[in-house]
Amino acid sequence: MQEVRANPDLLSFVIPVYNEQEVLPLLYSRLCEIADKLPCPVEWVFVNDGSSDRSWSILAELAAKDTRVKVVDLTRNFGHQAALTAGLDYARGEAVVVIDADLQDPPELVFDMLERYREGYDIVYAQRVKRHGESWFKLITAELFYKIMKRYIHKDLPVNTGDFRLLSRAVVNAFAEMREYHRFLRGMSAWMGYKQIGVSFERQPRAAGHTKYTVRKMFRFAWDAILSFSTLPLRVSIYFGLGVIVFGMLYSIYAVARYFIYHDLVQGWASLVVLQCVIGGTILVCLGMIGEYIGRIYEEIKYRPLYMVYRTLNTSLMSVPPRSVIPETRRRNRGTRD
Ligand code: UDP
Ligand code: MG
Repeated sequence: MQEVRANPDLLSFVIPVYNEQEVLPLLYSRLCEIADKLPCPVEWVFVNDGSSDRSWSILAELAAKDTRVKVVDLTRNFGHQAALTAGLDYARGEAVVVIDADLQDPPELVFDMLERYREGYDIVYAQRVKRHGESWFKLITAELFYKIMKRYIHKDLPVNTGDFRLLSRAVVNAFAEMREYHRFLRGMSAWMGYKQIGVSFERQPRAAGHTKYTVRKMFRFAWDAILSFSTLPLRVSIYFGLGVIVFGMLYSIYAVARYFIYHDLVQGWASLVVLQCVIGGTILVCLGMIGEYIGRIYEEIKYRPLYMVYRTLNTSLMSVPPRSVIPETRRRNRGTRD
C-alpha cells in the first residue's frame, strides 16, 4: 500500500512498571537497539506504578544518563490500566506505542507498526498468533473471555490482542477525553473507531520476574471489561428472574392439582422451601447486579483523578487532568513537544 503519512517526528513508548527490577536493564538495552534503527527520535515514558522493589532506583539511574528516559512515579499502585493512562497523558510523541515492561511483547514489532502508521492507520494493535510460556489456565480463560466479549459485548473487539499497540496523536487525544474510572483500554479503542489494523506476532514468555496479574486481578479485569461496555448482566438477571417466576407459577398449578387429586399437600412443604430459596436467591442476584452498576455510577460521579503522581524525571510534573473535563489549554498543547 502506498504511504500517506510521514514518520512521526517523535515516537513515544508508554511502559507501565510494577516490580520489574529484573527486566528493566534488559528492556532498556533492547529498546536502545531498536531506537538506533528507528527512522525517528524516541522517548520512553516509564510509569512506575507503586513498585516496592528497586524499579524506581533503576529507572532513576537510567534517566540520569539518558534523557530519552522519562519516568512518572505514581504515589501508589493504581493498576495497569491507570498506569497506562498516566503514560498516555505524559507522552509527547506524534505516535505512541503502548508496551508491557516484561518483554512479552517484542518491541521489534514497532517497525511493522510504523509501516502501518505511515499507510494511514491510527490504531495498529498487535495480535498474537501464539502464546509461549503461559499456563493452560490463562490460555483457556483468555480464549473464553475474548469469545464472550466479541459475541455479546463489543463485536469490533479484535481477538487475542493485548494493550500492545501503536496509537496516533489523534487517538491519544481521544483517550485523554475518555476519563472513565473503570477502564478497559482495548474496548475503548475498539469503540472510538478510526482506521484500525492488526499486525501479528508470537507472544513470548516473560523475560524475567513473574506475572503481576493474579487470578483475582484477572477476573476483576474481565468483570470491568464486561460491565463497562454493556448492561447485559442486568438483562441476564431479569431473564433469570422471569424464568424463576414462570417456574413458580407452573409449580403452583401442579401443587393445586395435586391437592385435588391426592389430598396430600402437607408433603409439599419441602418444595415450598425450595421455591422460597430459588426466588429469594434470584431477587438477591438481581439486586446485586443493580448494586454493581450503582456502585459504578458512584465511583464515576466522584470525578477523582485516575492516578496521582509523586515525582517525575526528565519531564515536568503536570497537574493530573480532572476526570470531568480536559481544560481547553491542555488540549491545545497536546501534540506539541516541550
Ligand atoms: N503492571 C502495572 N501495574 C499493575 C500490574 C501490572 O503497571 O498493577 C504492569 C507490569 O509491570 C507489566 C504490565 O503491566 O509491565 C503487564 O503485567 P503482567 O506482565 O504482570 O501481566 P500479564 O502479561 O501476565 O498479563
Ligand atoms: Mg506480562
